[in-house]
Amino acid sequence: MKTLLHVCCAPCANQCIDALRGQGHELTALWYNPNIHPFTEYRARRNTVQEYCRMVALPLLLDDEYALRPFIRAVADQIETRCGTCYQMRLDRAAAEAAAGGFEAFTSSLFISPYQNHELLRQVAEAAAERHHVRFLYQDFRPLFRAGQDRARELGLYMQKYCGCVFSEEERYRKPGQIIR
Ligand code: SF4
Repeated sequence: MKTLLHVCCAPCANQCIDALRGQGHELTALWYNPNIHPFTEYRARRNTVQEYCRMVALPLLLDDEYALRPFIRAVADQIETRCGTCYQMRLDRAAAEAAAGGFEAFTSSLFISPYQNHELLRQVAEAAAERHHVRFLYQDFRPLFRAGQDRARELGLYMQKYCGCVFSEEERYRKPGQIIR
């Protein structure tokens, strides 16, 4: 099956790529992650995905939009519940690219992460599939998460320390009890 894999980062994507290729999918990767801030972090993750795709001879569609402003505007009124909007921005683009590119299905390396809201991701992906008339290929890659992290370490790939947006960076590093306004 001709399948489009939205990739959030190389450490999450490597096992998804192996699993899907092992199942016989004719795979293409898509980079579209306007949620990653600041720009230096975005660039580090994007470059690592490019490097990894070259390493494993995986075609990569690069939607290189650094959408700090649109992202912040989209989540500004719902910062505590922003992840649904973030998933929607990325998976809707994945579904649209899959439909436009004649792919039979799409999925995302986000489905490997035990830190994401897996059920919400699934609902968002299914809605995007319906909107764009393309199949969403659901797979729970979470059992492969540790193997993917280990593989990334072995290869010396860049490994991020937080989910992606500026708010997740704050949550990762702020001291317990520190006041937030
Ligand atoms: S925490 Fe992660 S999934 Fe949630 S909005 Fe930020 S980047 Fe997106």
